[in-house]
Amino acid sequence: MIGIAVTCPGCGRTLPESTFHRDSHCARGRRPKCAECTNAPQRRRYRTDPQYRARKVAQVRARRNRMRARGPMATNFDFAEFITDLDGGRVNQQLGEELRHIAEEVERTGQVGELNVKFKIKREGNMCAVTIESKNKVPKDPMHGSLFYFGADGELHREDPRQLKLRELPQQRVRQPSIPDTDGGPSA
Ligand SMILES: [Zn+2]
Repeated sequence: MIGIAVTCPGCGRTLPESTFHRDSHCARGRRPKCAECTNAPQRRRYRTDPQYRARKVAQVRARRNRMRARGPMATNFDFAEFITDLDGGRVNQQLGEELRHIAEEVERTGQVGELNVKFKIKREGNMCAVTIESKNKVPKDPMHGSLFYFGADGELHREDPRQLKLRELPQQRVRQPSIPDTDGGPSA
């Protein structure tokens, strides 16, 4: 694991930055002393002050009971497990397939793809209804426009409708040999 090593002015040890408590008010966003040094006064008081210890034990118990009362979702919500369980594993499987397909097209086209998953969470009585929607951006091969001719019928033609009439003449000649060849185009 990559991390920054910081020297603690309390104990003089050089420790990974993660062993310093987070604190947005401090420089680097961490407490200046390591967690052990920061907690040392409380730990000493916990050992020596029975009243302080009783208060701390009560606080921890109260918090644990609050979390228990809220149910397992609040205390330990495992998102990976949640996804795996949804619709008997079908959501996990489908999203996996969608992601794989997008990745394949990203590799093939060199363009950027997106897998957007939306969870809608709604209260229904005492229950919580979760619905999932996925909107993807699958890279496509670049498309090129073309020029078309307007036809009298309002449709678009790849070839000029006026020239088309001339090209049809040889076929008419085959069906009706009496019409003279006047177009000079390719003979049938
Ligand atoms: Zn320290």
